Amino acid sequence: MRPVKRDDAPIDSDGNPVNFKKYGDARPYLINRLGQYCSYCEIWLPMGLAVEHIQPKGNETALEKEWSNFLLSCPSCNSRKGKKVVNAENLHDYYWPHCDNTFRVFIYENDRAPQIAKSLNEAQQRIARN
Ligand SMILES: [Zn+2]
Repeated sequence: MRPVKRDDAPIDSDGNPVNFKKYGDARPYLINRLGQYCSYCEIWLPMGLAVEHIQPKGNETALEKEWSNFLLSCPSCNSRKGKKVVNAENLHDYYWPHCDNTFRVFIYENDRAPQIAKSLNEAQQRIARN
């Protein structure tokens, strides 16, 4: 899997972090950093990638336009993730493309949803299914 490295917030011409008026304004910056790929399933999409909120935007309004809360997602992964709330208690119940090496966890093949690697132990497979 390609590394999902979003790095620090983009900087404007005055040297300040870009202030996104709408979260969708972050899309070109994310594509510039991450390429036109879904951060979760790695599908290449020349159009239709959405700005994905790691924390659902409805639950944490302060994070709606926060760079550190953004990834890119295809429509399928975006709807599958839905509005799951991520907190300190369940953070490690998932493998995250910007934190974990998901190449170790999933097998990515063309035209197929990522498959869970059979080399994982039972607990790791449960996290991968999440
Ligand atoms: Zn996807």
